[in-house]
Amino acid sequence: MIDWNKITDKEFEKLCYDILARSGFVNIQWLGRTGKDRGRDLIAQKVQTDLGQTWMETWLIQCKRYVSRPPSPSDLNDTLAWADAHKPDVLLIMVTNTLTADTHDWLEKMKDKKYRIQVCDAKLLETMLTDFKDIQKKYFGTRAEREISTAATIPFSSAYVYAKEIRTRGEATVVSGETYGLYALINGVFYFGSSPLWVKCKTCGLRFNSGISMDMESFKTAVLKGNIHVCPNGHSNSYDKEDYMFF
Ligand SMILES: [Zn+2]
Repeated sequence: MIDWNKITDKEFEKLCYDILARSGFVNIQWLGRTGKDRGRDLIAQKVQTDLGQTWMETWLIQCKRYVSRPPSPSDLNDTLAWADAHKPDVLLIMVTNTLTADTHDWLEKMKDKKYRIQVCDAKLLETMLTDFKDIQKKYFGTRAEREISTAATIPFSSAYVYAKEIRTRGEATVVSGETYGLYALINGVFYFGSSPLWVKCKTCGLRFNSGISMDMESFKTAVLKGNIHVCPNGHSNSYDKEDYMFF
C-alpha cells in the first residue's frame, strides 16, 4: 500500500511522467498550469499498431494527487471541458485515489466524446509501481535509494554536476580526476580508481550498475563482450565494451 502523503503534488506529476516514459509514450511534454486547482498536465504520443497498420495517438494526461477525497463529477467536468479544447485521441486521468462507483457511472455516460477516456487510479498505479521498482524507490524509497535512483537516471554528462551538488550539501566527498573523470563517495560507495561500470538497459533505458568495477587504465585493454546484465526492472541483455560507461 503506497502512502501518497509521502510525496508532494509536484513529485506526483514527475512520477506520472516517469511512468509514461517507461510505458512506451514518446514526445512527452508538460503543459502549463491551468485552472486554480489543476496540476501540471502532460501531452504525449503513443504508437499504436493493429492489423498491420501503425498510427500515432495523442494522449492528454491529467495528473492529480487527491489525498483527502477522490475527484467528483464536477471536478472531472472541468477536465473534460479542458480536454474538449485540446482534441486528443485519449484523455488519461491519473489520480492517487479510487473513483467512486457514481463517478465511474458518470464517466460511462461521457462515451459520446470524440476521444477515449481512461482512468489510472491508485490501484493501477500501485500495480505499475510493482513492475517499475526503480520508480517506486525513486519516490518512496529510503533516502539512499532515492539518491541512487536520481543518480541512475540523470544523463551521464550531468553526473559530475550532480556529484558536486551533493558535496555542496555536505553528504559526500567528491574528488575529480583530470583523466579519470568522476571519483565520488556517494551513499557510502567510494568511486575511486576502480569505478563501477554502468550500462544503459537496452529494453527500458534505465542506467544501472553492471556490477563490474575497473579502473580506467584496465578498461582500456579489457575485453568485454557478450556480458549478460539484468537491469533493476528485470530485463536481461547482452553488453559489449562500447556499452559500458564509468559513473
Ligand atoms: Zn530494463
